[in-house]
Parts: sequence; structure tokens; C-alpha cells
Amino acid sequence: MEIAEFQRQIEAIYFERDSRRGAAASFRWLVEEVGELARALREGESAHAREEFGDVLAWLCTLASIHGVELEEAVRKYARGCPKCGGTPCECGEPERE
Ligand SMILES: [Zn+2]
Repeated sequence: MEIAEFQRQIEAIYFERDSRRGAAASFRWLVEEVGELARALREGESAHAREEFGDVLAWLCTLASIHGVELEEAVRKYARGCPKCGGTPCECGEPERE
């Protein structure tokens, strides 16, 4: 499933309810799911972690949709390599991504 298709699927399932809930509450849900992912990774249970990765991505889709952002367009900055140096892999040695 491609990222745009996944964003449409999450919208079809949840957008009406999530948009009523609002951006701030949806952001808190995303953070909560990131916390659950952290716990799953710490526990070292790969099946549980895989499930949490899916939940985090689903909430990221919801938040993007509420803010009118197409994730397909958002990730395009990485399509030709590192946005700063253009390298694949990155050769500019800067640890932080903007
Ligand atoms: Zn770079």
C-alpha cells in the first residue's frame, strides 16, 4: 500500500470522527502512540512493535489530513537523497534532520 493510498484509507475509516476531535487532541493521540511504540521497542517484542509502528503512522496520517497535508508530497523532499547534500546515503554528516 502506497503512502497516499494509506492516508486515504485512514481518512475513510476515521476522518469524520478525528476531525471533530480536532488537531490538538489528535496530536496528543499521536504522541501517546509514539510512547506505546517506545515501550514495545523496549520490551523487544517485534510483533507488538510492528503493530505500534502501524498505529503511529495511522495517527500521523490523521494529523496530516486535519492540517491539509499530503504525506506523499511531504516525503518528496527525500526523493532525490538528502535534502541538504543530495547524497544517498547522506554525506553531509549532520545528525539532525529538518
Ligand atoms: Zn546530507
